Amino acid sequence: MTRHAGDTGLSLRCVACGTARAATLLYRCPACGGILEVERPRPVSGRWRRGDFVSDAVTLGEGETPLRQVPPALLAPDFHGNLFLKDETRNPSGSFKDRLVAAALTRALEMGATGIVSASSGNAGAAAACYAANAGVPAIVCCPEATPHGKLAQILAYGAALERVPGHYGNSFARAMALAGEKGYVNLTTTYLNPYGVDALRLVGQEIAEDLSGDTPDWIVIPTSSGPLVKGVHQGFADRGGAMPKLVAAQSEGCAPIARAFVEGSAEVRPWENPKTIASGISDPLTTYPFEGSHTLALVRDSGGQGVALADDAIRAAMHDLARRAGLFAEPTGAASLAAARRLFADGAIAATDTIVCIVTGHGFKDFAAFADSGAGP
Ligand SMILES: [Zn+2]
Repeated sequence: MTRHAGDTGLSLRCVACGTARAATLLYRCPACGGILEVERPRPVSGRWRRGDFVSDAVTLGEGETPLRQVPPALLAPDFHGNLFLKDETRNPSGSFKDRLVAAALTRALEMGATGIVSASSGNAGAAAACYAANAGVPAIVCCPEATPHGKLAQILAYGAALERVPGHYGNSFARAMALAGEKGYVNLTTTYLNPYGVDALRLVGQEIAEDLSGDTPDWIVIPTSSGPLVKGVHQGFADRGGAMPKLVAAQSEGCAPIARAFVEGSAEVRPWENPKTIASGISDPLTTYPFEGSHTLALVRDSGGQGVALADDAIRAAMHDLARRAGLFAEPTGAASLAAARRLFADGAIAATDTIVCIVTGHGFKDFAAFADSGAGP
């Protein structure tokens, strides 16, 4: 499809070859297959608003989530700095994916979309189903068979057509690509595939900076799959100029393509062979698009940050402590940020007086089994 988004002032630019294009419904650079990013004129006020990305007809009040300071001992007994939680569980369907879906759906509807498709480990599919229901368009969601039941229940509750696809996330991704072509639906998959969704994540960086009164935290720790949220935070701070926080891509030892490449000192992320982790939201092996991981890794390195791979037990411990010591019930993926901050402090990378923001990406209601299986459940 080559329909235009109207007079939005937007254009698309390939991050690999730099080619600029009109803001049509494109998923990859036609010249080289690279990731497309949205370029947009800076707002006169100097700050972005939700309405710059999401229409009144589509929004459900996503974003503008709390940044909450919690006792530093939640990180470690001998940590004495400032610890903040960016609570993305407050979004309408319970994860930060609402931000991407709302923005991507806004552009899709402007371009005449008659339906949407999403490949998802669960949260993006729940967001797509939720926003499609409100907008009155059909949605098809493709999920791996192993997706937590809470996420599947959400997708069905919102009325989307659910396809459970055997195998890992890569298979669901391929199925959604095929379905989008067959049906003529817009693909809202929340990897880097849909540039209009990723574009709105710059608000996350802006919100953190504004809530800290313009101070730049030393670290922002981000549960990371292919990495659009890393890009959004990076973009949000880059838009403001000034200092860039060190960005940490938190992954699970069971699926850590970006963290592996970071440790190896490589610029090229390779697909992960056999993903297996309780953190379903970051279990993307990047099978057919490892270059997305490489782009994220470049942003992490640009910021002076790190890629970190965590054992499921460390993620589980962080999940329990967020709930029991901070009143924040997160799914395992959402707790990976605190687990990574703990690791970096133990390793000596994070200093005892640093300021750290852990982004908590998804709600614990979505994955009761992870809670129950840990021995803490009912
Ligand atoms: Zn290109």
